Formats: sequence, C-alpha cells, structure tokens
Amino acid sequence: MGLFSKPIKTLDDLFVHMLQDIYYAENKITKALPTMISKATDPQLRQSFEVHLQETRNQIVRLEKVFQMHGQEVKGVTCPAIDGIIAEAEEVISDSGDKEVMDAAMLASAQAVEHYEITRYGTLIAFARQLGRNDCASVLEETLAEEKATDKKLTMLAESKVNRMAA
Ligand code: FE
Ligand code: FE
Ligand code: FE
Repeated sequence: MGLFSKPIKTLDDLFVHMLQDIYYAENKITKALPTMISKATDPQLRQSFEVHLQETRNQIVRLEKVFQMHGQEVKGVTCPAIDGIIAEAEEVISDSGDKEVMDAAMLASAQAVEHYEITRYGTLIAFARQLGRNDCASVLEETLAEEKATDKKLTMLAESKVNRMAA
C-alpha cells in the first residue's frame, strides 16, 4: 500500500484502490507508448501501438467516468507492477540492438502490459458486480474487450511475422 493511500478495509475500498492503481497504470502506458511507436520498425507493429495509444486515452476517460459514477475523486496510486513491467521493457529495448529483435522485444513487453491490464480489469469487473455496480462493470467491460483484442492482435503479429524477422 502506498504511503498516502487510505487503509483498505472493505471490498469497496479495495475496488477504489484498484481503480486508482489502473488509473496510474493507464497514464503511465500513455507515456511509454509514444517511445515504442517511434522505435518500432514493422509498420503493422507501429500501427498497433498507435491504435492502442488512442484506445488508452479513451480508457483513461472511461476510468474517470467510473470514479464519478462511484462518487470518488479521480486519483491514481502508484502501481509498482506497471512501473516494473515498463522498467523491464526499457531494459530489453536497447537502441544498439538489431531492429527486428527490438520489435520482438517491444511486442513481448507490450503483451506483458496487456496481461497485467486484463487481470486488473477482470477483477474490477467482478468487484463492481459484487458491489451492485453493474453500471461501472459495463463501462469497464468495454476496456477489457480492447485489452484482450490488443493482446490477440499482438500474438498474431508475433507468430505470423515479427518473431520470424527477428530470428
Ligand atoms: Fe489500457
Ligand atoms: Fe498495480
Ligand atoms: Fe492496453
């Protein structure tokens, strides 16, 4: 738990905390994607990142809507998991390396991000339903579908082309 976040005592507290966590994560992703766009060599990979940057901006707006629907202030708390995933991505994406290998590294890192998001949104949706907030759940469902679709698209790109080019 972050230094300034309030103690988590109820499922509702946990729901709000996880909303703040993913809000921080989505904002962090918005800052990381432009670098990946500029470094991607494969045009389809670059385009996937561009499309997902737009989606991510919209996901942030959706989260702000959910905070409001639930009567909470819009606020983020540090997510050590996304910080770690992005730090690890920066480590494997070296500028000196082979361009095709760098594409494979960025794609793999992007999938790690999507998988983190998928687990968080899945939990948030389940909590929202348990708390009787089906309205919040359906907004979050839209984002979960985008994260899953992005992950699928990246798998297809990796298996059809990017990994072969890197080999
Ligand atoms: Fe996202
Ligand atoms: Fe987190
Ligand atoms: Fe995503």
